[in-house]
Amino acid sequence: MEWGIINKENFEDKTTYDCPVKRWDPLSTVKITSEAFGLRKEHMRFYGHYSYISPIRGLRPKGFKSDEQEEQFYNCLEKAVSKFKDVFSSIIEGKIAHDDWGMPIGDGFTMIITEDELKRDDPFSETPHRIERIPDTCKAITLINRYPSMARIIDRDIEAHIMKNLPPHIKLSEGINLVTISRNFYPSLCFKLIPEDVLAGIFLSMKAAILYCIEESINKDYYDIPVMPFFNIGTKVGGSQPRIHSQVYIDLNMDGHGSRLEGYLEAFKEMGDRCHLCETTHGGSDRIILETEFWTFYTTGSPVRNYHIRFHPNEHIRRFSQLKSNQIQDLAHCLKLIFQALDDIEIDKNRNILFNSCPYGYDANFHLFADIIPHEVIGGAELADDMRVARKLPHIAAKEIRESLEKYLK
Ligand SMILES: [Zn+2]
Repeated sequence: MEWGIINKENFEDKTTYDCPVKRWDPLSTVKITSEAFGLRKEHMRFYGHYSYISPIRGLRPKGFKSDEQEEQFYNCLEKAVSKFKDVFSSIIEGKIAHDDWGMPIGDGFTMIITEDELKRDDPFSETPHRIERIPDTCKAITLINRYPSMARIIDRDIEAHIMKNLPPHIKLSEGINLVTISRNFYPSLCFKLIPEDVLAGIFLSMKAAILYCIEESINKDYYDIPVMPFFNIGTKVGGSQPRIHSQVYIDLNMDGHGSRLEGYLEAFKEMGDRCHLCETTHGGSDRIILETEFWTFYTTGSPVRNYHIRFHPNEHIRRFSQLKSNQIQDLAHCLKLIFQALDDIEIDKNRNILFNSCPYGYDANFHLFADIIPHEVIGGAELADDMRVARKLPHIAAKEIRESLEKYLK
């Protein structure tokens, strides 16, 4: 069921549990009661904890050949980085790529949603194919994830069969999973090697792909759509491929959203016209790391990890896809600087970047914001509730990062 396609050819002889499912936890799931957050007469909607369970995720190829090679990427060693070939090389070249031992890496088949900002395959297309060699001038491309956690195309007969056989609290999970990669190989663990325009290109390609997918989803009568753009950088935080890449989860189940997003939506609702992000000085500014015309970066006062950085556009916009080109260029510039500053003070290079947006179709107030969360091992109490224990005082963390950043700002 690669590329999120379930049809008669690949479903044959499988059990209903071999398809991606979404399961709401009955102990933490509540019906949505606010129209602004997705209450609709025709559908039961929830917020709470849910899991996507997708057997195909386990088949993702390993990106690093060995621990030693991974170590070389951590240290940005030239020999590991130059001429590196990965599964994406085959896609970009439009033919099978081979490693140093002549072994084929990947088959080159893909579905491409955007080449830079240019629309390519329909987000609901059903046929993986080899694409023409991507021109050198291209910065980034956005593809359908071959190993998704949601199904994108479902044969209607099979869907009826699955629905009949799955228990009522489990449903077939529908949605689009995107992955955006740089056209040329740059290792995600070495932000300093990634040119600013390539990083900006990744954001621009993601944005265009989200807009294209939403447009086509609405044409297919999907609405109220949570969209989650994120980066997994390093194997410890879920980044299985060495090449810089981002992902977007577009949930088309039309059954609600998670409890954390519910918290954000409620908080912004309570703020009304007095948006916290528009008004705050972030603790009298001693937690601010970097402030530009377009963005503010600061250490959050309630960190999820030590050195947890939060950032937001200075403009009150609700979604990632509303970012304008100058905001995106500046974001790429800032992220490169901050990642370098974090590297210099030896913060774990395994990091997530998570964008928090208002779902499409919700008539809710929201101010787009994002989190940079460096990897750390978490403990039992932290799994038990939406709580974290941090040791580093956020204003001290901010001071350390600011001092590390200083040399790059002169
Ligand atoms: Zn605001």
